[in-house]
Amino acid sequence: MSPTVLLFDIDGTLISTGGAGRRAMAGAFEAVCGPGGAGALQGFSFAGMTDRAIVRAGLVAGGFTDDAGDVEARIDVVLEAYLVRIAVEVASIEGYRVLPGVTQVLAWLATLERVAVGLGTGNVRRGAMAKLARGALDASFAFGGFGCDAEDRAALLRVGAGRGAEQLGVPVEGCRVVIIGDTPKDVAAAAAIGAACIGVGTGGFSPDELRGLGAFAAFATLEADGVRDALLG
Ligand SMILES: [Mg+2]
Repeated sequence: MSPTVLLFDIDGTLISTGGAGRRAMAGAFEAVCGPGGAGALQGFSFAGMTDRAIVRAGLVAGGFTDDAGDVEARIDVVLEAYLVRIAVEVASIEGYRVLPGVTQVLAWLATLERVAVGLGTGNVRRGAMAKLARGALDASFAFGGFGCDAEDRAALLRVGAGRGAEQLGVPVEGCRVVIIGDTPKDVAAAAAIGAACIGVGTGGFSPDELRGLGAFAAFATLEADGVRDALLG
């Protein structure tokens, strides 16, 4: 088996936060943009978007323009306000759950050699770890590509792949890189960096849809037969 770097998406793939992410983001917009500021987030789904892209889209929808760097300057302010809130929201929300098969697959992967298990997520690192901690999944990931590495999903996956290769002590060109995600954006970003993608139907897109878009395998959940073979190629 070639050295393998696995990069797992978080929301809809490993966990469902039960809406805590959106609540924290809405709270951040209210705090930074004033009462009613969260209204700008209502028109779009966050699925597959990086944190910076979500904040940018919300600010633009709220009428901010890039004149005088108005949007750029505010993105970091909103993200700081979001990070203050995300751990609190995740800790208190009822609907939080670790998705089927996740804990078992991660425990199995931890026993394998020449496999680096990381994250490939649009969440900024602190937000990612806050979301994973409640499900005791944070310790399973020693590295990743995060939303604080790049606003573009393909770019952050490339960073994550490089870190995984470094952990294995081999050049990234010599690794099989696999993205595990739940949205068309995961599939597209994997293709953009020449990685394979395994789709999982726990985030609202069906395995058939994800396969149709280019995932080489897709499953209803990570509990399904065939998941482990697909991970190892
Ligand atoms: Mg996702």
